[in-house]
Amino acid sequence: MSDDLRILAVPALSDNYVWLLADASGAAIAVDPGEVAPVRAALAREKLRLTAVLLTHHHPDHIGGAAALTDNGRIPIYGPEDERIDVPYTRVGDGDRVTIASPALRFDVIAIPGHTKSHIAYFGHGVVFCGDTLFSVGCGRMFEGTPVQMLASLDRLAELPGDTLVCCGHEYTVANCAFAQTIDPDNPALAMRTTQARALRERGSLTLPVSLAEERACNPFLRVDSAAIIAALPRAKGRVERFAELRRRKDEFRAVVA
Ligand SMILES: [Zn+2]
Repeated sequence: MSDDLRILAVPALSDNYVWLLADASGAAIAVDPGEVAPVRAALAREKLRLTAVLLTHHHPDHIGGAAALTDNGRIPIYGPEDERIDVPYTRVGDGDRVTIASPALRFDVIAIPGHTKSHIAYFGHGVVFCGDTLFSVGCGRMFEGTPVQMLASLDRLAELPGDTLVCCGHEYTVANCAFAQTIDPDNPALAMRTTQARALRERGSLTLPVSLAEERACNPFLRVDSAAIIAALPRAKGRVERFAELRRRKDEFRAVVA
């Protein structure tokens, strides 16, 4: 990430993160503010002033604080074309570039449908804000998309440079590691990530952001072409079926532990 920028994850709601990206002057953007109070508190504590808001998708836990934090859009809001986003905002889509004056930021917009039909990511300055599509050692549920769409979206994220910091919408890493261990138990990178994530959470720290290179090594949903995942799912024909089977098993796994 650029030297003059700093990134902060603000815990919100039960397990969401609102991301703040700020420059040395204190100008800051917020990504997916699902809640007002913790964002206001973080801005005050860090002496930051909000200059723009980015939204990745329409779910209330990602947009719920946007109207109040921006005085109903007086501070610019960017988001995907979706009639369910009920604040005044600028619509952006795949291939667009979002330019913000202060802090001086430019993001490429990448369409990543699957969790929702209009979900987008913002990539720039060595960071990707990917909402509920890619999580550390996991991926989002497919509420509105097909396995073909979701896998294509994850493929696009996985192609970004390895040192990209993945800034996703939820702290799910420990539970995701527990599931991934059932599929890919001999993966040393996954074992390390599991140990590290548990230790971080035990002392109240965040497991994010994480580098994309580490995700490629640990995350079963980015490893559908690896020998280990192919061997773990022998009945699945091809990578889309492997992805769909992984996602199905994860849905069942969560149902058991939740
Ligand atoms: Zn969501």
